[in-house]
Amino acid sequence: MKKAPIFDIAIVGAGAAGLQYLYEYLHLSENDKSTILLIDSGDRTKKSWCFWAENNSASFPFLIEKSWSKITYRSTTAISQTQEIGNLNYHYISSDNFFNYFFDEFIPAHPLVQHEIGWVDELNESGTVIDIILKNGLIFQAKQVADARIDRKIVEHQPQLAQHFWGKFIEFENDFLDSSAATLMDFSQAQTNRDYSMFHYILPFSERKALIETTVFSTKPYDEQAYEAHWNQYMADNFTGKNYQVIDIERGTIPMTVMPSTNNLGKIFKIGTAAGQVKASTGYAFTRMQRDAKQKVNQLPSNIKSRHLFFDSILLHMIKSENKAIPLVMDRLFARINFTKILRFLDEKTSIWDEIRIFSQLQIPLFLKHLLTRNR
Ligand SMILES: Cc1cc2nc3c(=O)[nH]c(=O)nc-3n(C[C@H](O)[C@H](O)[C@H](O)COP(=O)(O)OP(=O)(O)OC[C@H]3O[C@@H](n4cnc5c(N)ncnc54)[C@H](O)[C@@H]3O)c2cc1C
Repeated sequence: MKKAPIFDIAIVGAGAAGLQYLYEYLHLSENDKSTILLIDSGDRTKKSWCFWAENNSASFPFLIEKSWSKITYRSTTAISQTQEIGNLNYHYISSDNFFNYFFDEFIPAHPLVQHEIGWVDELNESGTVIDIILKNGLIFQAKQVADARIDRKIVEHQPQLAQHFWGKFIEFENDFLDSSAATLMDFSQAQTNRDYSMFHYILPFSERKALIETTVFSTKPYDEQAYEAHWNQYMADNFTGKNYQVIDIERGTIPMTVMPSTNNLGKIFKIGTAAGQVKASTGYAFTRMQRDAKQKVNQLPSNIKSRHLFFDSILLHMIKSENKAIPLVMDRLFARINFTKILRFLDEKTSIWDEIRIFSQLQIPLFLKHLLTRNR
């Protein structure tokens, strides 16, 4: 068995979180001479990363492929509402662009980064170093490990709620889409399956190109056949008579789980989904991961607020035990609260008074019921 030199830090998992951590780590001048090992599975599954940010403060502005200053919500009764989102923009980065940048430009420009493809089976802390044991028998050593692997034990102890995605990048024959507004959620398609709540979103990249995605909150396993049927129905209902071709597809699942987020930067620490950076109730993670990477690199405490974890836990309980209520809660939220305020709330940037105002507009008895039954 071969032993490698001892690296200053190893990053396990070169997904959104691992690469954002690498980026922030190398932007700190005191890490200039550090040796870094990046180990990952080589999985480059296509993902779309959308996030909102104030003008001029977006993550990776040079990778953004499209931005929208307006968003649309479409209700269960097919009423569309579009609003400007103030000084925010809703941005799109594709994982293709992100990975190309990192693997073709950023990593080659940093010779002290060693990139290894492999599956990490185990991390063993022994004395001052950590042994990183790969499935293929290789062992590496590092003084610290940033670990993006999800702790399956945590997921298994919580309700198996997940967000499933089934989307297609399509090109219509003619220009007709309004590319100035992204449809964040469209609940207009009938919720025909009692096991999950579902919505669609539309990212129009131009007047004829878009990503249209079926999104499902469910405790059941991924069901591509069912999602494909929903997707086709959505197209038939909303784009009758429009010819299009499918350019690419996107599929994926993320756990809707409140993961413990820890400030403990021991020799081994979690990053990304594994560190609670995917907001459990919405699935948004990209900017949270960047913020978390900055904080961890600079040894600052995490600023996930406990009251937001509490709000998430109520919503998750509702999704899990009464998913038919979700579309109606969303209808009411978007009908009564300004969209910019909703985005700030989801970003955990609202004050407690804003949050009281938001909840007072929603179905209070329903929320109270789930508040009281959530730990049973
Ligand atoms: C289809 C889809 C769309 C999404 N859209 C958005 C969005 O619009 N906006 C947003 O903010 N978030 C979105 N998310 C959520 C979130 O941003 C992503 O899931 C994000 O990729 C999570 O980053 P991560 O690094 O934690 O995990 P990943 O990106 O999955 O990266 C983890 C990496 O670690 C590797 N790995 C795991 N275990 C091992 C091991 N034992 N050994 C070696 N390597 C290992 C994996 O193969 C993978 O490459 C989306 C997720 C999906 C699935």
